[in-house]
Amino acid sequence: RQAVLKISTGSKELDKLIGGGIQTMSITEAFGEFRTGKTQLSHTLCVTCQMPVEEGGANSKVALIDTENTFRPDRLRAIATRFNMDPEEVLNNVLYAKAFNTDQQLDLITALAAKFSEEPGAYRLIIIDSIINLFRTDFSGRGELGERQQKLNTMMSRLMKVAEEFNVAIFITNQMMSDPSGGLTFVADPKKPVGGHVLAHASTTRLYLRKGRDNQRVAKLYDSPDMPEAEATYAITEGGIDD
Ligand code: ATP
Ligand code: MG
Repeated sequence: RQAVLKISTGSKELDKLIGGGIQTMSITEAFGEFRTGKTQLSHTLCVTCQMPVEEGGANSKVALIDTENTFRPDRLRAIATRFNMDPEEVLNNVLYAKAFNTDQQLDLITALAAKFSEEPGAYRLIIIDSIINLFRTDFSGRGELGERQQKLNTMMSRLMKVAEEFNVAIFITNQMMSDPSGGLTFVADPKKPVGGHVLAHASTTRLYLRKGRDNQRVAKLYDSPDMPEAEATYAITEGGIDD
């Protein structure tokens, strides 16, 4: 059995909250309102996973599935510079794909599994920013909720299988029920993530992100079965997520 690796978020406080970083063979979910740093955290992880294991990385390449069209290579360049890494080399290690519907999103995960078996050990991280966006547009009708949850369940099972088979960390972002940017909503509870029981059960670690003062943000462990609901403060900076 392979050893679990932990990938730094860029913030020591946030790393501490989740036990040292986001873990391989596991699914970490971050949800919160707009501008809480979900995409900036995704960008930061693209860089930190490439660092040596002794420095909080996984010495690996990363695959990113973008469903919201918010990936910015320039952000990766700035974050790489913060860590004294070659920006272009960092970009070369990011396998990027845009998904336009949930079928494609599912197919991309299957394609990644094939890629990982061709290059064993090269990839230790998959990021999906966000997991839910296309589900909200593909299944926007009231009567489609059951079908949506079924497909989401298929996707999460496939992700967990890839995580365990290839010793990969899965980092997904999610939206809040009340966020109107995600399409129609059924329940107006601003404190709840989208995805219901399916995501609640599939995600190993769930982080609820909220705004603080200025560039400060607060992450709270959400619904953890075995850890206290502690909080950590982090900052969004030019160099990515930091303390
Ligand atoms: P959404 O739900 O809309 O996807 P999000 O949680 O993904 O939101 P991000 O896009 O990660 O939010 O974070 C946006 C925040 O990051 C904004 O407050 C913005 O000011 C800050 N930010 C973006 N780029 C930089 C930068 N280069 N330097 C400092 N802060 C930045
Ligand atoms: Mg975002």
